[in-house]
Amino acid sequence: MISPAWLGRLEALQHKVRAEGLYRTRRLLEGRQGVRVHMDGRALTNFSSNDYLGLAGDPRLEQALIEGAAKYGVGSGASHLICGHSAAHHRLEEELADFLGRDRALLFSTGYMANLGVLSALIGRNDLVFEDRLNHASLLDGAQLSGAKLKRYAHGAMPEVAAVQGPFSLIASDGVFSMDGDLMEGKSLASVASSAGAILMVDDAHGIGVLGQRGAGILEVQGLEQDEVPVLVGTLGKALGTFGAFVAGPEALIDFLIQKARTYIYTTAMPAAIAEATRTSLGLVQQESWRREHLKSLVSRFRAGAKTLGLVIGASDTPIQPIMVGDAQLAMSVQSRLLEAGFLVVAIRPPTVPKGTARLRCTLTAGHVAEDVDRLLEALSVCPELSQSNV
Ligand SMILES: *Cc1c(COP(=O)(O)O)cnc(C)c1O
Repeated sequence: MISPAWLGRLEALQHKVRAEGLYRTRRLLEGRQGVRVHMDGRALTNFSSNDYLGLAGDPRLEQALIEGAAKYGVGSGASHLICGHSAAHHRLEEELADFLGRDRALLFSTGYMANLGVLSALIGRNDLVFEDRLNHASLLDGAQLSGAKLKRYAHGAMPEVAAVQGPFSLIASDGVFSMDGDLMEGKSLASVASSAGAILMVDDAHGIGVLGQRGAGILEVQGLEQDEVPVLVGTLGKALGTFGAFVAGPEALIDFLIQKARTYIYTTAMPAAIAEATRTSLGLVQQESWRREHLKSLVSRFRAGAKTLGLVIGASDTPIQPIMVGDAQLAMSVQSRLLEAGFLVVAIRPPTVPKGTARLRCTLTAGHVAEDVDRLLEALSVCPELSQSNV
């Protein structure tokens, strides 16, 4: 039983969250993920998923999953180090490493766990970790868990890493910032890291599959090699359309993580069938470059239209196109109005983004057509709240 004191404490917190307009609820998805979704009994055009290439509902991935399950069963049975590491997992790791031009890759069950595992394995109490203020929560949480001294630098700035002997330093950055869509300054970060003897870790959750001619992500676009960015984290649940994550880098790093990363060691391996579906999607990422080209043209179309309407949008050329509103309650009312008009564009509020920067995080995917973008812009043009936005 929860004691009255505990209940009182929970209720007080909930009350505060509601009063600030920050209460969170979930929407019920009925049926398949994609551009056309059925949610809470409504048919909506979805502008909120991270399924940037439109692969999450692709029948070819589904087929690979079914065949994978027929071959390996559903559950993986154990962690990778006990008896859960299948040939499917192993091949996917090799294919990811090849695709990204890295010695090796190591699968994790989620991106959140990859970041926690890598940071807490690589650094500890006597070390320093430098992070962009707008880094994903999992990079910040990983730093906390590691016990290293965390220094957060202003978004887009350069960390001041002294070339000292003594503490080891690690710089961690999102490749594409998840709520803003802008890019890290990878070349500058790599040169700061290299002159200070620090290790650079990049989380390219939103770049893999999307950025670069080959879809190899931010490091392809910015021309960064394994030497410059030894630790690359990527997720499989976004552009790749499946589930899970990986770390890719030098042999010595991967071997070390197998020994030391607790979120790798003490958890069940992802189902092998998921690895099989991901192998199929990794092939499609490489073969179907039209998805990236189409996405780019949608991004340009959206940005041009939003500028014409006078909307405040982010400085982003990626599929993440935040429409800035400022006030959290105001963002919620734009979200409701768009839902009424048949669009899912989820409002993102503190603490996910800094106070006073609530926004509609609009994302485009290769599954959209130009008309979807035009219809969303039309709906935005008749939102009275957007002219009151205080950013
Ligand atoms: C989504 C995301 C993660 C977490 O990945 P999951 O596989 O969803 O746990 C990590 N980092 C960034 C930047 C992300 O956007």
